Amino acid sequence: MTGEDTQDSSDGGAQDGADDPDVETDGGAVGPGDGRDDAGFAPAEPTAGEDFEPVQVFPDEETMDLRPGADDCYKCSTCDVNCPVAEVDDDFPGPKFQGPEQWRLKQNEEDYDVDESITSCSNCMRCDDACPSGVPLSQMHNEARGEFVREEMSLLSPKYWRNRILANYRVSAQVASVVPRLANAAMNFGPARWVMEKTLGVTSEREFPEFAEQTFREWWTARGGAAASRQNAREARQRRGDPVDADRRVAYFHGCYANYNTPEVAKALVRVYEHFGYELVVPEQRCSGTPMFANGMLSDARRDAEVNVSSLADLVDRGYDAVCSCTSCSMAIRQEYPELFDFEGTGEVAGSTFEALEYLRINEDLRGELADASVDGFDDLAYHAPCHARNQGLSRQAVELFRELDGVAVEDVGDSCSGISGTYGWKAEKYDVSMEIGEEMFEHMEDAPGETGLTECPTCSMQMEHGTGYEIRHPLEVIEEALVDDRVGV
Ligand code: SF4
Ligand code: SF4
Repeated sequence: MTGEDTQDSSDGGAQDGADDPDVETDGGAVGPGDGRDDAGFAPAEPTAGEDFEPVQVFPDEETMDLRPGADDCYKCSTCDVNCPVAEVDDDFPGPKFQGPEQWRLKQNEEDYDVDESITSCSNCMRCDDACPSGVPLSQMHNEARGEFVREEMSLLSPKYWRNRILANYRVSAQVASVVPRLANAAMNFGPARWVMEKTLGVTSEREFPEFAEQTFREWWTARGGAAASRQNAREARQRRGDPVDADRRVAYFHGCYANYNTPEVAKALVRVYEHFGYELVVPEQRCSGTPMFANGMLSDARRDAEVNVSSLADLVDRGYDAVCSCTSCSMAIRQEYPELFDFEGTGEVAGSTFEALEYLRINEDLRGELADASVDGFDDLAYHAPCHARNQGLSRQAVELFRELDGVAVEDVGDSCSGISGTYGWKAEKYDVSMEIGEEMFEHMEDAPGETGLTECPTCSMQMEHGTGYEIRHPLEVIEEALVDDRVGV
C-alpha cells in the first residue's frame, strides 16, 4: 500500500464529515474593519487578491521561466542572519542559498540537482519575514523541497517513509483516536519508542502528545452542531443588546491537533465566539498541509488543500469568514496555498481567513472586554510567539490583549524560535539542532515568573513543555475563562 493509498483510505472519517446541516445562504460577510481596531495592531495582509499570480519556482524544464522574485535578491544576507537553523548548524548554507541562489543554479546548469541541505530548512518562514526585498523565500524552499523529494529521494528509504508518516499526522491521529487510551500507552511504551527510533528515525527523546478520549468533532456533534451554535449565538446577541438577526457567521478550521489532541482549545474557541454572538459551522476539512510542505510532500499537501479550499470557498461565497486556532494553519491557508496552488477560490479563501484572536480584535472590542474582566486559575504566563504568528504580524497579540486583564500577568519570552518547527524536532537527526535553537526560549521561560507557558502553536507548545516541564495553555483558554460564564455543552 502506498502512502497515497493510506491517505485515501482515511476518507469518510470523523474529520471529513461536513457539519453544516442548516447553513443559510443569504449574504452578510462579517468583514474585517467593521469593528474597533486596537491602536498599533497591524496584522499582515493575506497573500491574495485579484492581481496575485501563483508562480512555479521549479517547473519542468520546457516551461522554466524567469523568477522575478529571485532577481530582487541583492545578497544582503539579512535572511541568513535571521535563520535559526543557520545560527546553530554550521553545515546549513542558509536561506539565501536555498532560495535565489539555488534557483539560479537550477536555471544555469542543465544537470543541477537540488541540494540535500534543503531538507535541513525547518520551514519556520522567518527568512520570508526578514527579507527587505520581498523575495518569496519560503515559496522557493517549498518548491525546492518538493523537487528534492520527487527527484532525489528513494521511495524505498526509511527516511522517506518516516517523513511521510510524520507529514500525514492526521491519518495516524484518526486511527489512534479510535482507541485513545491504548494508543497513548503504546506510543509512549519505551521499547516501542526505541524501535521507532532505530527503524524510522523518530526520536525517542520526546513524549508523544496524548490523544483525547473524545475528539472535538465528536463533542461538536454531540452538542448539536451548527444548529446549537446558532441558538447560543442568538441568545448571546440578545444578552449583549445586539440585533438578534445579525449576520455573524464564521467557519472554524480547527486543524488536526485541536481535533485529536487538544479539544479544550477548540471548545474554547467555540464558546468565545458564541459569547460575541457568532454562529459557527465546522466544515469538512483535512490537514492544513503545514507538515507536508515542510517535508516536501507537495502532492499530499495538494490533495488536502484542495478539500480545504473547496469546502471553505463554498462558505466564503455565502458570506462566511474562516478562523483558525493554530497559527500555522492560518499561515498555510493565507500564504502557502496561494503561493503554491491555484484551485478555484484559493485567493478568496486566503483573503477571508484569519487567526482566531486577530479576527476578534479586528471586529470586536476584545481588549476592552478583557480589561473589564478577571480570571482565576492561571499562573503568571510566559508567552512565546510562534514564528508563523510573527509572519502574520501577530507576534505580541496575547501580551497586548492580556495586559489589563485582572488575575494574570503575561511576559513575552523574546523573539527566538522554539526550534521544533512541526515535524522537524521529531526527527532523530534533527533533535539536537531543535533543542539548541530552543535553548534561548527555555532560558527566558525559566527566568520569567510563573511556571505556565502560553502560545498559539501546538508544536511550539510541545517544545515549551519538553524543554521546561511547564504546563502550556492557549490564549483562547484564557479568554474563555475571562469572558464565558455559561459553558454550554461541557
Ligand atoms: S524557513 Fe526558517 S529554517 Fe528555513 S531557511 Fe528560512 S529561516 Fe532558515
Ligand atoms: S534577505 Fe532577501 S535580498 Fe537579502 S540575501 Fe536574503 S533573499 Fe536576498
